[in-house]
Amino acid sequence: MRFDQVLGHERPLGIIRTHLEHNRLRGAYIFSGPEGIGKKMVAKIIAQEINCLEDAPPCQTCGSCIKTEKEQHPDVHLIQHGEAQIKIEDIREILRQASFRPYEGQAKIFIIDNAHKLNPEAANSLLKVLEEPPKDVLFILVTHKPQNIIKTVLSRCKVIRFTPLVRSRLEEILVKNYALERTGAHFLAYYAEGRLGLALRLKDTALLKEKNKIFDAFIFSPKPLDREIMGQSKEELQESLNILASWFRDIYLLKCGLSEKEAIHLDRFADLQKTLPRFSFKHLDEIMFTLSESSLYLEKNINSKLLLHNLGAQLWKA
Ligand SMILES: [Zn+2]
Repeated sequence: MRFDQVLGHERPLGIIRTHLEHNRLRGAYIFSGPEGIGKKMVAKIIAQEINCLEDAPPCQTCGSCIKTEKEQHPDVHLIQHGEAQIKIEDIREILRQASFRPYEGQAKIFIIDNAHKLNPEAANSLLKVLEEPPKDVLFILVTHKPQNIIKTVLSRCKVIRFTPLVRSRLEEILVKNYALERTGAHFLAYYAEGRLGLALRLKDTALLKEKNKIFDAFIFSPKPLDREIMGQSKEELQESLNILASWFRDIYLLKCGLSEKEAIHLDRFADLQKTLPRFSFKHLDEIMFTLSESSLYLEKNINSKLLLHNLGAQLWKA
Protein backbone atom coordinates (compact mmCIF):
# COMPACT_ATOMS: atom_id res chain seq x y z
CA MET A 1 0.00 0.00 0.00
CA ARG A 2 1.05 3.61 -0.58
CA PHE A 3 0.11 6.77 1.32
CA ASP A 4 -2.30 7.85 -1.42
CA GLN A 5 -4.18 4.55 -1.03
CA VAL A 6 -4.74 5.04 2.70
CA LEU A 7 -8.33 6.03 3.43
CA GLY A 8 -8.59 8.98 5.82
CA HIS A 9 -5.75 10.14 8.13
CA GLU A 10 -5.12 13.24 5.98
CA ARG A 11 -3.66 15.24 8.88
CA PRO A 12 -1.17 12.70 10.28
CA LEU A 13 -0.12 11.70 6.75
CA GLY A 14 0.46 15.36 5.89
CA ILE A 15 2.85 15.73 8.84
CA ILE A 16 4.63 12.46 8.04
CA ARG A 17 5.08 13.38 4.37
CA THR A 18 6.59 16.75 5.27
CA HIS A 19 9.04 15.08 7.64
CA LEU A 20 9.90 12.47 5.00
CA GLU A 21 10.44 15.07 2.26
CA HIS A 22 12.87 16.96 4.46
CA ASN A 23 14.59 13.77 5.53
CA ARG A 24 13.61 14.53 9.09
CA LEU A 25 11.77 11.29 9.80
CA ARG A 26 14.30 9.95 12.29
CA GLY A 27 14.40 9.65 16.06
CA ALA A 28 11.22 8.62 17.87
CA TYR A 29 7.54 8.95 17.12
CA ILE A 30 4.41 7.87 18.90
CA PHE A 31 1.42 6.99 16.73
CA SER A 32 -1.58 7.23 19.03
CA GLY A 33 -5.27 6.70 18.35
CA PRO A 34 -8.00 4.06 18.77
CA GLU A 35 -7.37 0.43 17.89
CA GLY A 36 -8.11 -0.79 14.39
CA ILE A 37 -7.63 2.45 12.47
CA GLY A 38 -4.40 1.68 10.62
CA LYS A 39 -1.57 3.15 12.74
CA LYS A 40 0.69 0.12 12.31
CA MET A 41 -0.12 -0.06 8.61
CA VAL A 42 1.06 3.54 8.18
CA ALA A 43 4.24 2.71 10.15
CA LYS A 44 4.95 -0.13 7.72
CA ILE A 45 4.38 2.09 4.68
CA ILE A 46 6.92 4.53 6.16
CA ALA A 47 9.43 1.70 6.51
CA GLN A 48 8.87 0.76 2.86
CA GLU A 49 9.09 4.36 1.73
CA ILE A 50 12.42 4.97 3.52
CA ASN A 51 14.12 1.78 2.37
CA CYS A 52 12.63 1.35 -1.13
CA LEU A 53 15.26 0.84 -3.82
CA GLU A 54 13.36 2.59 -6.61
CA ASP A 55 12.91 6.27 -7.48
CA ALA A 56 9.20 6.44 -6.72
CA PRO A 57 8.91 4.90 -3.24
CA PRO A 58 7.31 2.75 -2.08
CA CYS A 59 7.24 0.83 -5.36
CA GLN A 60 5.97 -2.30 -3.60
CA THR A 61 7.80 -4.49 -6.07
CA CYS A 62 11.50 -4.08 -5.21
CA GLY A 63 13.23 -6.56 -2.92
CA SER A 64 13.19 -4.11 -0.04
CA CYS A 65 9.46 -3.33 -0.27
CA ILE A 66 8.58 -7.01 -0.53
CA LYS A 67 10.77 -7.96 2.43
CA THR A 68 9.19 -5.22 4.54
CA GLU A 69 5.72 -6.36 3.55
CA LYS A 70 6.58 -9.94 4.55
CA GLU A 71 8.17 -8.66 7.77
CA GLN A 72 11.53 -10.10 6.73
CA HIS A 73 13.57 -6.95 6.12
CA PRO A 74 16.78 -7.04 8.20
CA ASP A 75 16.50 -3.30 8.93
CA VAL A 76 12.81 -3.25 9.82
CA HIS A 77 11.97 -4.67 13.24
CA LEU A 78 8.41 -5.25 14.37
CA ILE A 79 7.97 -5.80 18.06
CA GLN A 80 4.44 -7.10 18.53
CA HIS A 81 3.47 -9.14 21.55
CA GLY A 82 -0.29 -8.54 21.49
CA GLU A 83 -1.50 -7.99 25.02
CA ALA A 84 1.64 -9.42 26.66
CA GLN A 85 4.17 -7.16 28.37
CA ILE A 86 7.17 -5.83 26.50
CA LYS A 87 10.13 -6.75 28.67
CA ILE A 88 13.64 -5.48 29.14
CA GLU A 89 15.04 -8.41 27.10
CA ASP A 90 13.07 -7.11 24.08
CA ILE A 91 14.52 -3.65 24.54
CA ARG A 92 18.06 -4.98 25.02
CA GLU A 93 17.74 -6.70 21.65
CA ILE A 94 16.46 -3.45 20.09
CA LEU A 95 19.42 -1.52 21.55
CA ARG A 96 21.83 -4.12 20.22
CA GLN A 97 20.31 -4.00 16.73
CA ALA A 98 20.16 -0.19 16.77
CA SER A 99 23.89 0.02 17.42
CA PHE A 100 24.67 -1.49 13.99
CA ARG A 101 24.53 0.46 10.76
CA PRO A 102 21.63 -0.45 8.44
CA TYR A 103 22.44 -3.68 6.58
CA GLU A 104 20.88 -2.77 3.26
CA GLY A 105 18.42 0.08 3.74
CA GLN A 106 18.70 3.80 4.42
CA ALA A 107 17.65 3.46 8.04
CA LYS A 108 16.86 0.98 10.76
CA ILE A 109 13.23 1.12 11.75
CA PHE A 110 11.76 -0.27 14.97
CA ILE A 111 7.98 -0.46 15.15
CA ILE A 112 6.88 -1.20 18.72
CA ASP A 113 3.23 -2.22 18.72
CA ASN A 114 1.12 -1.75 21.86
CA ALA A 115 3.90 0.40 23.31
CA HIS A 116 1.77 0.99 26.43
CA LYS A 117 2.70 -2.59 27.31
CA LEU A 118 6.33 -1.63 27.96
CA ASN A 119 6.93 -2.57 31.57
CA PRO A 120 8.68 0.11 33.69
CA GLU A 121 12.09 -1.54 33.42
CA ALA A 122 11.78 -1.83 29.63
CA ALA A 123 10.51 1.75 29.29
CA ASN A 124 13.47 3.09 31.28
CA SER A 125 15.89 1.10 29.19
CA LEU A 126 14.32 2.38 25.97
CA LEU A 127 14.49 5.91 27.35
CA LYS A 128 18.28 5.80 27.23
CA VAL A 129 18.35 5.29 23.47
CA LEU A 130 15.51 7.78 22.89
CA GLU A 131 17.54 10.47 24.62
CA GLU A 132 20.23 10.16 22.02
CA PRO A 133 18.91 8.09 19.12
CA PRO A 134 21.64 6.84 16.80
CA LYS A 135 21.76 8.39 13.34
CA ASP A 136 19.68 6.55 10.74
CA VAL A 137 17.38 4.98 13.30
CA LEU A 138 13.64 5.52 13.52
CA PHE A 139 11.47 4.33 16.40
CA ILE A 140 7.70 4.24 15.95
CA LEU A 141 5.77 3.45 19.13
CA VAL A 142 2.21 2.46 18.26
CA THR A 143 -0.41 2.73 21.00
CA HIS A 144 -4.09 3.21 21.77
CA LYS A 145 -3.31 4.01 25.40
CA PRO A 146 -0.67 6.77 25.36
CA GLN A 147 -1.69 7.69 28.92
CA ASN A 148 -0.10 4.40 30.05
CA ILE A 149 3.32 5.29 28.63
CA ILE A 150 5.64 6.89 31.15
CA LYS A 151 5.96 10.64 30.74
CA THR A 152 9.72 10.64 30.25
CA VAL A 153 9.32 8.38 27.20
CA LEU A 154 6.38 10.42 25.87
CA SER A 155 8.38 13.63 26.13
CA ARG A 156 11.17 12.18 23.97
CA CYS A 157 8.82 11.32 21.11
CA LYS A 158 6.97 13.34 18.51
CA VAL A 159 3.33 12.39 19.00
CA ILE A 160 1.18 11.95 15.90
CA ARG A 161 -2.53 11.45 16.53
CA PHE A 162 -4.70 9.27 14.34
CA THR A 163 -8.49 9.57 14.46
CA PRO A 164 -11.27 7.32 13.15
CA LEU A 165 -13.13 8.13 9.95
CA VAL A 166 -16.42 10.01 10.08
CA ARG A 167 -18.94 7.16 10.35
CA SER A 168 -21.00 8.15 7.31
CA ARG A 169 -17.77 8.19 5.27
CA LEU A 170 -16.80 4.73 6.49
CA GLU A 171 -20.29 3.52 5.56
CA GLU A 172 -19.76 4.82 2.00
CA ILE A 173 -16.32 3.19 1.82
CA LEU A 174 -17.73 -0.17 2.94
CA VAL A 175 -20.42 0.03 0.28
CA LYS A 176 -18.24 1.30 -2.58
CA ASN A 177 -14.86 -0.32 -1.92
CA TYR A 178 -15.94 -3.53 -0.19
CA ALA A 179 -19.32 -4.18 -1.85
CA LEU A 180 -21.22 -4.45 1.43
CA GLU A 181 -24.99 -4.01 1.34
CA ARG A 182 -26.25 -0.79 2.88
CA THR A 183 -27.76 -2.12 6.13
CA GLY A 184 -24.65 -4.12 7.02
CA ALA A 185 -22.33 -1.26 6.06
CA HIS A 186 -24.28 1.19 8.20
CA PHE A 187 -24.22 -1.10 11.22
CA LEU A 188 -20.51 -1.90 10.90
CA ALA A 189 -19.48 1.73 10.34
CA TYR A 190 -21.37 2.93 13.42
CA TYR A 191 -20.66 -0.06 15.64
CA ALA A 192 -16.93 0.16 14.81
CA GLU A 193 -17.11 3.92 15.50
CA GLY A 194 -15.45 4.83 12.23
CA ARG A 195 -12.53 2.40 12.63
CA LEU A 196 -11.95 0.92 9.19
CA GLY A 197 -9.66 -1.91 10.35
CA LEU A 198 -12.14 -3.03 12.98
CA ALA A 199 -15.08 -2.85 10.54
CA LEU A 200 -13.13 -5.00 8.07
CA ARG A 201 -12.29 -7.52 10.78
CA LEU A 202 -15.94 -7.74 11.80
CA LYS A 203 -17.40 -7.83 8.30
CA ASP A 204 -16.85 -11.56 7.78
CA THR A 205 -18.03 -12.58 11.23
CA ALA A 206 -21.57 -13.56 12.17
CA LEU A 207 -21.96 -10.35 14.14
CA LEU A 208 -24.88 -8.98 12.14
CA LYS A 209 -26.94 -12.12 12.73
CA GLU A 210 -25.79 -12.59 16.31
CA LYS A 211 -26.69 -9.10 17.39
CA ASN A 212 -30.29 -9.50 16.29
CA LYS A 213 -30.44 -12.89 17.98
CA ILE A 214 -29.47 -11.21 21.26
CA PHE A 215 -32.08 -8.48 20.91
CA ASP A 216 -34.80 -10.94 19.95
CA ALA A 217 -33.99 -13.07 22.98
CA PHE A 218 -33.53 -10.48 25.69
CA ILE A 219 -34.85 -7.06 24.82
CA PHE A 220 -38.56 -7.62 24.39
CA SER A 221 -39.51 -9.91 27.24
CA PRO A 222 -38.05 -10.69 30.67
CA LYS A 223 -35.83 -13.72 30.39
CA PRO A 224 -32.59 -14.61 32.13
CA LEU A 225 -29.54 -13.83 30.00
CA ASP A 226 -28.08 -17.22 29.27
CA ARG A 227 -24.76 -18.23 27.81
CA GLU A 228 -26.49 -20.18 25.08
CA ILE A 229 -27.12 -16.91 23.26
CA MET A 230 -24.67 -14.53 24.95
CA GLY A 231 -21.77 -16.82 24.07
CA GLN A 232 -19.63 -19.50 25.66
CA SER A 233 -16.13 -18.04 25.46
CA LYS A 234 -14.97 -14.90 27.23
CA GLU A 235 -14.52 -13.17 23.85
CA GLU A 236 -18.04 -14.03 22.71
CA LEU A 237 -19.48 -12.83 26.01
CA GLN A 238 -17.52 -9.60 25.71
CA GLU A 239 -18.83 -8.99 22.21
CA SER A 240 -22.40 -9.66 23.38
CA LEU A 241 -21.97 -7.12 26.18
CA ASN A 242 -20.71 -4.62 23.60
CA ILE A 243 -23.75 -5.34 21.42
CA LEU A 244 -26.13 -4.78 24.33
CA ALA A 245 -24.28 -1.56 25.20
CA SER A 246 -24.69 -0.33 21.63
CA TRP A 247 -28.45 -0.98 21.83
CA PHE A 248 -28.80 1.07 25.00
CA ARG A 249 -26.51 3.74 23.59
CA ASP A 250 -29.00 4.09 20.73
CA ILE A 251 -31.96 4.30 23.12
CA TYR A 252 -30.18 6.87 25.27
CA LEU A 253 -29.30 9.09 22.33
CA LEU A 254 -32.69 8.70 20.64
CA LYS A 255 -34.24 9.95 23.87
CA CYS A 256 -31.89 12.94 23.58
CA GLY A 257 -33.11 13.61 20.03
CA LEU A 258 -30.51 11.76 17.94
CA SER A 259 -31.50 11.59 14.29
CA GLU A 260 -32.57 8.20 12.93
CA LYS A 261 -29.63 7.78 10.56
CA GLU A 262 -27.14 8.17 13.42
CA ALA A 263 -28.51 5.07 15.18
CA ILE A 264 -26.16 2.07 15.18
CA HIS A 265 -29.11 -0.31 14.84
CA LEU A 266 -30.87 1.47 12.02
CA ASP A 267 -32.12 -1.93 10.79
CA ARG A 268 -34.05 -2.29 14.07
CA PHE A 269 -35.22 1.30 14.32
CA ALA A 270 -38.90 0.41 14.81
CA ASP A 271 -37.95 -1.91 17.69
CA LEU A 272 -35.71 0.73 19.25
CA GLN A 273 -38.64 3.12 19.29
CA LYS A 274 -40.94 0.48 20.70
CA THR A 275 -38.65 -0.21 23.68
CA LEU A 276 -37.69 3.42 24.24
CA PRO A 277 -40.58 4.41 26.57
CA ARG A 278 -39.68 1.63 28.99
CA PHE A 279 -36.42 3.28 30.08
CA SER A 280 -35.85 6.44 32.09
CA PHE A 281 -32.49 8.20 31.83
CA LYS A 282 -31.72 7.05 35.35
CA HIS A 283 -32.43 3.43 34.47
CA LEU A 284 -30.31 3.72 31.30
CA ASP A 285 -27.44 5.16 33.35
CA GLU A 286 -27.64 2.18 35.66
CA ILE A 287 -27.73 -0.29 32.77
CA MET A 288 -24.71 1.31 31.09
CA PHE A 289 -22.86 1.27 34.40
CA THR A 290 -23.68 -2.40 34.97
CA LEU A 291 -22.62 -3.23 31.41
CA SER A 292 -19.22 -1.59 31.74
CA GLU A 293 -18.76 -3.09 35.20
CA SER A 294 -19.63 -6.52 33.77
CA SER A 295 -16.96 -6.08 31.08
CA LEU A 296 -14.37 -5.34 33.75
CA TYR A 297 -15.46 -8.31 35.86
CA LEU A 298 -15.32 -10.54 32.80
CA GLU A 299 -11.71 -9.38 32.25
CA LYS A 300 -10.98 -10.48 35.82
CA ASN A 301 -12.63 -13.86 35.25
CA ILE A 302 -15.45 -13.29 37.73
CA ASN A 303 -18.22 -15.93 37.57
CA SER A 304 -20.01 -15.11 34.32
CA LYS A 305 -23.28 -16.79 35.34
CA LEU A 306 -23.62 -14.43 38.28
CA LEU A 307 -22.63 -11.52 36.11
CA LEU A 308 -25.33 -12.28 33.52
CA HIS A 309 -27.89 -12.82 36.28
CA ASN A 310 -27.20 -9.36 37.71
CA LEU A 311 -27.29 -7.75 34.31
CA GLY A 312 -30.60 -9.44 33.43
CA ALA A 313 -32.10 -8.24 36.70
CA GLN A 314 -30.93 -4.70 35.89
CA LEU A 315 -32.47 -4.74 32.39
CA TRP A 316 -35.88 -5.74 33.64
CA LYS A 317 -36.15 -3.98 36.96
CA ALA A 318 -39.35 -2.01 37.31
ZN1 LIG B 1 10.37 -0.50 -3.38
